[in-house]
Amino acid sequence: MNRRTERTTCLIAGGGPAGMFLGFLLARAGVSVTVIEKHADFLRDFRGDTIHPSTMQNLHELGLLDECLPLMDFRANKLKVNINGQTFDGPDFSDFDTKCPFMGFVPQWDLLNFMAEKAAQYPGFDLRMSTKAVDVIRDGGRVRGLRCESDEETYDIHADLVVACDGRGSTIRQCTDHAVDEVGIPIDALWFQLARPEGDRGHTLGWLKNGNMLITIPRHDHYQIAMVIRKGGFDSIRAMGLEAFRSTVASV
Ligand SMILES: Cc1cc2nc3c(=O)[nH]c(=O)nc-3n(C[C@H](O)[C@H](O)[C@H](O)COP(=O)(O)OP(=O)(O)OC[C@H]3O[C@@H](n4cnc5c(N)ncnc54)[C@H](O)[C@@H]3O)c2cc1C
Repeated sequence: MNRRTERTTCLIAGGGPAGMFLGFLLARAGVSVTVIEKHADFLRDFRGDTIHPSTMQNLHELGLLDECLPLMDFRANKLKVNINGQTFDGPDFSDFDTKCPFMGFVPQWDLLNFMAEKAAQYPGFDLRMSTKAVDVIRDGGRVRGLRCESDEETYDIHADLVVACDGRGSTIRQCTDHAVDEVGIPIDALWFQLARPEGDRGHTLGWLKNGNMLITIPRHDHYQIAMVIRKGGFDSIRAMGLEAFRSTVASV
């Protein structure tokens, strides 16, 4: 079958933080780069929000920090933890020898939209949303490109270099037979939201009580909350019902 074929210098599968930052760096260095992202936008609630001092240092070195800081609606130089009803100072960033000695909170989609806007200022940057890598194209044993699927068509992009930034369930990794090294994490995080009262500036991030643990990430008008649970423990929480779950959350 004759498919339409395009060419670029570097082809990146996946517009998460890895793909978008790499795309930005290459375009800034004058390299033609195409990033393909299977979703139509960056809006996915399951991703975390903390931007660490070292990341802000990177943003500073890239000349992006001043424009990025206003995206952070919450900053904390100390993270408070509440254990059995008593609040303690947790990690303290204030003495870090870095441009921003604090942790910032930005929904990941805001950061990715920001990076997309910045990368688009370079003529060699091409971001294709709603475009999924479905297979690798090989030539003489080397990966030479990707077969791409958009809403309209399936086509090929050939490139000098193909980079797999397509996350945990990487299609490219499967197509290239790379094995996953499972390290066995003993916990899951159960995510939900609660309304955030106005004026909550002295926020406490971690809450521990009776073997339960909550992480409360502040956003404009709500908390994004993770309950840390035993790996695979969600079914038994569901079996106990919503009222029991609510009462555990309230008590912690
Ligand atoms: C619940 C949760 C909370 C987290 N909290 C934090 C936090 O607070 N702070 C922090 O720094 N990190 C946090 N992380 C980790 C952080 O989200 C990841 O480290 C980061 O997203 C990894 O970036 P990535 O670009 O490698 O992959 P991903 O973010 O997974 O991006 C991969 C991208 O590739 C796209 N894609 C997948 N398959 C294809 C395909 N076939 N073709 C085209 N596109 C494809 C996906 O749609 C996605 O956009 C959290 C992660 C989770 C799951």
